[in-house]
Amino acid sequence: MGEFDLIARYFARPLPQGSAGGAIALGTGDDCALLAPAPGMHLAVSSDMLVEGRHFLSTVDPARLGHKALAVNLSDLAACGAEPLGCTLALALPRADAAFLDGFSRGLWALADAAGCPLVGGDTTQGPLNLCITVFGQVPAGQALLRRGAKAGDQIWVSGTVGDARLALEVFRGTLALPGDAFDAVRERMERPTPRVALGVALRGVATAAIDVSDGLLGDLSHLLRASGVGATVQAGVAMTTGATSAHLKALGAERCAAFALSGGDDYELVFTAPASAADAVRAAGAATSTPVTPIGRIDAEAGLRVVDASGRPLDRAFSSFDHFA
Ligand code: ADP
Ligand code: MG
Repeated sequence: MGEFDLIARYFARPLPQGSAGGAIALGTGDDCALLAPAPGMHLAVSSDMLVEGRHFLSTVDPARLGHKALAVNLSDLAACGAEPLGCTLALALPRADAAFLDGFSRGLWALADAAGCPLVGGDTTQGPLNLCITVFGQVPAGQALLRRGAKAGDQIWVSGTVGDARLALEVFRGTLALPGDAFDAVRERMERPTPRVALGVALRGVATAAIDVSDGLLGDLSHLLRASGVGATVQAGVAMTTGATSAHLKALGAERCAAFALSGGDDYELVFTAPASAADAVRAAGAATSTPVTPIGRIDAEAGLRVVDASGRPLDRAFSSFDHFA
């Protein structure tokens, strides 16, 4: 199978009529795709690369990899409150492996269809397996959720659950074991993350700042804090119990449980801030998009990130010495 057969077979699908609300004027097949964001909209653009051995294991199911490659990009649109328009795929492959391409493209297209984010172009070359997707979205000018904007007194919220993907990774690494069904659940969270696109859109005009959690809750929150010029106090216990498999997380002991939930990474949830007076609006955004939202702390005027237990005491030194919290 040559390069052009490969593209035609797996990646150049005719776009359904009215794709992305008619915003795709031209898809795959020419030198450029043409996107037509609606008047008054800003184009939101983000790229994420996945490298074998660093971002995924060579044993991963190709369909799950196709899903995840797009999901991590959609998560960036979600964090900005942007709605997807389309995406491009730059792909380096060691060889034209039909089984891999069939699964990968199926997983990718399934999420592209579900999210209204069709593939509109890309590049294909031979080389070590490497995937780079760029997503394009739109958001009303002035309404994008940014990392800056959090104010002292705001509540800090997290969507969904954190810590599960790290739990799965540690099972793969052989550092712990889980019963079969619990492993399936956390593996699903690691391999098929749910980008919170609808929640991000619903939080426009409600959240004061947002970021998606790819490197760990506290690490990513600290980027938001720095951009906003504020500090925060996070209740470790609340964040820890948002894990779908929190019983298994807790069984690891408080220290490891906190490390997985607070700095585990690969969660693709949103962490965001909103004034306390907007708490009902945040809950309504969560309910309208069927996304759990949990308040986990508050923004302080004083710089720095403080992690406290249920009674407000700072967590012990061993815990707070994790690199992510430095
Ligand atoms: P060019 O030579 O202009 O870079 P290519 O020959 O690389 O064009 O690609 C031909 C067409 O196929 C272009 O429209 C390009 O966007 C599309 N394409 C190439 N690779 C991919 C891919 N992996 N996924 C989607 N579209 C692709
Ligand atoms: Mg090219």
